[in-house]
Amino acid sequence: MSRTTADSCPGILRLHQAADGPLARIRVPGGQLTPTQIQALAEAAHRLGDGNIELTSRGNVQLRRVRDTGALADLLGDAGLLPSRTHERVRNIIASPLSGRIGPHPDIRPLVTALDTGLLGSPQLAGLPGRVLFTLDDGRGDTSALHPDIGIHGLGDDRFALLLAGRDSGVRVSATEVVDTVLAAAHGFLEIGSGHWRLQEIDGGTERLTARLGRSPGTERLEFTDPAGPPIGWLPQDDGLVALGAGVRLGSLPARTAEFLAAIERPILLTPWRSLIVADLGEAAAEQVVRVLAPMGLLFDADSPWLRITACAGRPGCAKSHTDIRADAATAVETGRTTAAATAEADAVSAAAIVTAGRQHWSGCDRHCGRPAGPVTEVTATPAGYRVVSPID
Ligand code: SF4
Repeated sequence: MSRTTADSCPGILRLHQAADGPLARIRVPGGQLTPTQIQALAEAAHRLGDGNIELTSRGNVQLRRVRDTGALADLLGDAGLLPSRTHERVRNIIASPLSGRIGPHPDIRPLVTALDTGLLGSPQLAGLPGRVLFTLDDGRGDTSALHPDIGIHGLGDDRFALLLAGRDSGVRVSATEVVDTVLAAAHGFLEIGSGHWRLQEIDGGTERLTARLGRSPGTERLEFTDPAGPPIGWLPQDDGLVALGAGVRLGSLPARTAEFLAAIERPILLTPWRSLIVADLGEAAAEQVVRVLAPMGLLFDADSPWLRITACAGRPGCAKSHTDIRADAATAVETGRTTAAATAEADAVSAAAIVTAGRQHWSGCDRHCGRPAGPVTEVTATPAGYRVVSPID
């Protein structure tokens, strides 16, 4: 299938006209935010948006009901969140969030910077569709299952597997070749793309791209599975400091909470599971962060039922939604109806009658936007009421 229109992914300069108003998406390569940047996002959400920062499944953020696009670009530009007016929508880079801090894997953070710099430095790559996704997995297997168009996966011994169209291509590269290879693959995508938004959509895309790279794939093919969940709670770093993994209810971070995060003056890492990590804390500081931010709604308990539930935008943000899906999902969690022993399958039922278990995704219509990969219970609003099906892969 060839696309006849350009992708419509929003950015800071090109907003999406959602049902509740203009929506801006801000790319955060590798999910890495400085305290200044999280403060700028908080200020933007408070002063120019609806008061919340939405976390996305690509480790980016969104602001809804944006009132002044010029002021938004100035504010975020001053914080370094808009380094290019031409390339902002192509900087979709997910990296292993804990890389370089926890575990024996190679530190992937310099590769995030180098890849972002390479993307920004190529005028041609401004033409990539905003849907194209890059992943940099240090080898722990947390991001390679996210179906990147182009990705790398650490193998140890200074070798990386090249992922194309969501799968291991069989090509192996050294650490020094990673960034040039990924950038060459991005250029190759532009040459064979002919209007497609994803490499996965192109017939024989992996084989054609591999040939353009002049690489001969080996016979080994790695398989990737989704991680069990986001890193949550107390995470001892290799250097003796502590990282705190925090869940965010339905991926919506209030600006006031973000201001408190900025005040900690530590790196904030956004994850592709709509959670965040506060890194590089001393033990006393980490305890203080939990004492202050848990009452504000951040989730430091890996058993919290909020961590197993996701929801699309629903009303009022999406005109296609049959209901305010997020309000119904939140009520289900708060009234203890999402922790049953087993899901009660149902059709055309009211929100109050839903009883579910395990990972679940609530959708305002059958498009299931934002549905996480892997087996989940699907709770879907229809014109006749809710349909509950569990679990489907
Ligand atoms: S799943 Fe339907 S209601 Fe929800 S955001 Fe997507 S289109 Fe809108």
